[in-house]
Amino acid sequence: MSVVGVLALQGDVHEHLVALAEADVLARPIRRPEELAEVDGVVLPGGESTAISRLLATFDLLEPLRARIKEGMPTYGSCAGMILLADRVLDGRADQHQLGGLDIVVRRNAFGRQVDSFEADLDFTDVGEVHAVFIRAPWVENVGEGVEVLARVPESAEAGAAAGRIVAVRQGHVLATSFHPELTGDGRVHRHFVDMVRAAG
Ligand code: GLN
Repeated sequence: MSVVGVLALQGDVHEHLVALAEADVLARPIRRPEELAEVDGVVLPGGESTAISRLLATFDLLEPLRARIKEGMPTYGSCAGMILLADRVLDGRADQHQLGGLDIVVRRNAFGRQVDSFEADLDFTDVGEVHAVFIRAPWVENVGEGVEVLARVPESAEAGAAAGRIVAVRQGHVLATSFHPELTGDGRVHRHFVDMVRAAG
């Protein structure tokens, strides 16, 4: 059975562990480099990217995680996790560390400037229609050539300036969403990621 870790330094770790267990993998929290070495894939949860980035350095996980992502370990980041995976961040803190791996530019707290939380039904490539919950979420401003856009915010009165913004992407073994499928009880995005883990294994 595949083993998938959830980076457990800060954020909604438990919800991701539950969603992964329901997708029939062994799900484990990760706080140490030795634990990272044992997993086939990793999830970076939602939370606060500046706090997680600081803790990654404190727990000596920054370089090991960068290295595994570079080597091709399947990785999924939701919200703060997407920010950590982005090669460039707008409105980030100057001392914020990036794991990188995704050739995208994200704008941190992009939705948060209009409303703290926002929900929408999205058409998610390879998954279907998904009810997306955004909490002080980033959006993707730009994607590089190798990045596949999987979902955008649909046009609606509530969406305002967020309409058309990119909120789910994939680049090879790296998947990221601005929103939180772990909070809605819909396991399809996690199952999609688990399929990526199995295909790589
Ligand atoms: N605003 C948070 C950040 O900058 C992300 C919010 C979230 O993960 N729900 O990291």
